[in-house]
Amino acid sequence: MAPLVRFAPSPTGYLHIGNARPALLNLLYARAQGGRFLLRLDDTDRERSTAEFARAVAEDLAWLGIEPDLHARQSDRSAEHDAAAERLKALGRLYPCYETQEELERRRKRQLGRGLPPIYDRAALDLSADQRAALEAEGRRPHWRFKLDARTIAWDDLVRGPAHVDCASLSDPVLIRADGSYLYTLPSVVDDAAFGITHVIRGEDHVTNTGVQVQIFEALGAPVPVFGHHNLLTTADGAGLSKRLGHLSLRSLREAGYEPAAVRSLAVLTGSAESVRAVASLDELAGLVDLAHISRAPAKFDPQELDGLNARLVHALPFPEVEARLAALGVPPDRAEAFWAAVRANLGKVAEAGDWWRVVSGPVAPVIADPALIAAAAETLPPEPYGPETWKAWTTMLRERTGAKGRALFMPLRLALTGLEHGPDLAGLLPLIGRARAARRLAGETA
Ligand code: GLU
Repeated sequence: MAPLVRFAPSPTGYLHIGNARPALLNLLYARAQGGRFLLRLDDTDRERSTAEFARAVAEDLAWLGIEPDLHARQSDRSAEHDAAAERLKALGRLYPCYETQEELERRRKRQLGRGLPPIYDRAALDLSADQRAALEAEGRRPHWRFKLDARTIAWDDLVRGPAHVDCASLSDPVLIRADGSYLYTLPSVVDDAAFGITHVIRGEDHVTNTGVQVQIFEALGAPVPVFGHHNLLTTADGAGLSKRLGHLSLRSLREAGYEPAAVRSLAVLTGSAESVRAVASLDELAGLVDLAHISRAPAKFDPQELDGLNARLVHALPFPEVEARLAALGVPPDRAEAFWAAVRANLGKVAEAGDWWRVVSGPVAPVIADPALIAAAAETLPPEPYGPETWKAWTTMLRERTGAKGRALFMPLRLALTGLEHGPDLAGLLPLIGRARAARRLAGETA
């Protein structure tokens, strides 16, 4: 059966590069296996989930190149969640608890003081109907816990190989808060089952949840998907990335002018068996990534690596892929292809092409560092038409005439023609600058 995977963010903030990792690992797995990808918004937290963040999730994924095959949002599915909760209640697997945070905290401290693991003691299971009624009469509303079987849940993890969680060492998890809202745990299982998710690929921060959720799948009589838990992306100092801090959000990376392929390469290849390198296409990335070979150690990355990856991708971008962006930067369509060929090797980001177009089209204030040489250059400036060989022919002539060579020849010419010490190869720029403008700059005019 073709896999169906899902990426299930909560729309409570902007996606960051660490969220791109599970999104892409799911997509790449589906691509490699001929499967499909569901985008599910886990928006059961009504207070923190917003429509703006939900829109941003779809937009940011599209920017990464992810167009989901299917969409769902948990807030549309509360009837299914309620039905599942009722079934668990009827099965005696979901039970009401009335302890306050303070009471739980006091008990926890007592257990720790006695050297016991701080596991919920299931005191609520012993409440009689009368005691529950009395607590409700006091105005207390129950939260609901899932009654775990005290057994070890084992699975063959797509990333980690044989994996297990000893559920006897866990507190019965709260599935429903006192205000009636669901934590993520139950709706996720109900929706995974309803949509027929075959593979749950997510961060290793969910390993313990998997032990719990496998028990919920089983209690509901639903088939248990295959699980894979990948290492989390962290910055070099080992710190995690927080969605709420907007740290390295996909939006800010896009606004900073990074190519999506650079972000994809870093998000996916860091902490994989492959070296981090610039991979332009999703298909190529899908061919490289094997979940079974992802490292168990944290995937440490340096955000500055993005600059190098981006530059390498930009240098290799064929003209048709940047045509529209060059037009948006003000490069005239009839000059754009030659201009791209002349400048791309010098760019860290495509947007910098706009700066070089201003150097070509002016006005540029020339710097005349060697007046005698520049006077000779003006005299020998060839007639048009200009082509790729014009520069070589002109500078050869100039060298023979003045004896200047190497840096002593080229730097004064660059300063006069561009006003700058560094830049793209002048052989490519000169035909774009053209004879008239070059002549004026050699004469010291701003042009
Ligand atoms: N909404 C959950 C999260 O963002 C989904 C985790 C999962 O993939 O099951 O952590």
